[in-house]
Amino acid sequence: MELYRFGAHNGEEPPISGERGSGTIFFSRCTLRCLYCQNFPWSQEGEGREYVTEGLADVLRRLAAEGCHNWNLVSPTPWLEGIHEAWSAVIAGGVRLPLVYNTSGFERIETVRKLEGWVDIYLTDLRYSRPESAEEGSGNPAYVDASRKALLEMWRQTGALETDGNGVARRGTICRLLVLPGKADEAVASLNWLSQTVGTEIPVSVMAQYTPAYKATEREPWKRRPTAAEYESVVEAVDRLGFTAGWVQEYETPSPDSLVGFKMRPE
Ligand code: SF4
Repeated sequence: MELYRFGAHNGEEPPISGERGSGTIFFSRCTLRCLYCQNFPWSQEGEGREYVTEGLADVLRRLAAEGCHNWNLVSPTPWLEGIHEAWSAVIAGGVRLPLVYNTSGFERIETVRKLEGWVDIYLTDLRYSRPESAEEGSGNPAYVDASRKALLEMWRQTGALETDGNGVARRGTICRLLVLPGKADEAVASLNWLSQTVGTEIPVSVMAQYTPAYKATEREPWKRRPTAAEYESVVEAVDRLGFTAGWVQEYETPSPDSLVGFKMRPE
């Protein structure tokens, strides 16, 4: 397995970060190849460090000992076999936190089925609604169909978000919608699809933090942020369609570290 970094992280949705942070592990080699990826050195260009099973087990134990609320696996798909071995060894020793599967949504349905009974919380994306956009932005036109099928299976497994008395997630599926420049209508189409197929009780997390990076800095429309009007059209759709749970990031100048300064509502 290759992973880039790990540690307590406070930039996720409030039920995932909680008070003490989410025990986040960033794995190398994402399944997508987004031209705007801010993490391209490890997601696409192979930076990272090799870990054997026992090394990853130590990371999981360390994050638990530091008080993190969960184990948050970011882009874990290429390394599932080794991760499962490490996780099994740790829980056999009596240490267990909710397991978060943090994915772009580009997953095989067979892969998601194998996660049943293992993963507690899915943090997944619906990034596009048009295959041609998925090809242009992330190098794979199959994304739209795959991410929707994967989300339906995740939702079947977990249902709505369950939290403890402190509002920290125990189980559930959260859908993220990153608003992309010139493609806000695709986020609205994703919300329409969710409301008609899954229902409006799925928590949605609408994100304004897109910033051009990597190969996006010289390409239209990717070289700009979404406008405030584009972003508001997605927020308006959340309200209009009647989603009952979730968070909306404020439209503001993003921090260089895109995950710092998350401001969500409701608090
Ligand atoms: S899904 Fe996320 S981590 Fe993977 S390439 Fe795209 S932006 Fe980067």
